[in-house]
Amino acid sequence: MEDCLFCKIVNKEIPSSIVYEDDEILAFKDINPAAPVHILVVTKKHLESIKNIKKEDEILIGRIFTVINNIAVEQGIADSGYRVVTNSGRDSGQEVKHLHFHIIGGKELGSKICK
Ligand code: AMP
Ligand code: ZN
Repeated sequence: MEDCLFCKIVNKEIPSSIVYEDDEILAFKDINPAAPVHILVVTKKHLESIKNIKKEDEILIGRIFTVINNIAVEQGIADSGYRVVTNSGRDSGQEVKHLHFHIIGGKELGSKICK
């Protein structure tokens, strides 16, 4: 999709630090990490947020969690623990309107998930 930052990253028009890629999924390091490990996992297909997920996307969305698990193992945080976040819509503060899952870990994150 034109003018979508993450579509441009998927299409390699904007550089990123890629940690995983397959036909449907890309994972890259967040440019402004909130923790020692902060990776974004995106669908290559442009979906704005959870609200745009359709029945036909169920396998893809399920597979994202397998990818997340594999990345967590590779990053050495699978046992220490980590948080997976996806912001969806205005109240969440979603900045980039392309479905993405944050993997955040590598330190104690505390229990707060909102202000
Ligand atoms: P969200 O608020 O859930 O939409 O998160 C968007 C995330 O994208 C933020 O954590 C940003 O730091 C991150 N981000 C923005 N631009 C880039 C970029 N060019 N490369 C990697 N991460 C980015
Ligand atoms: Zn997009």
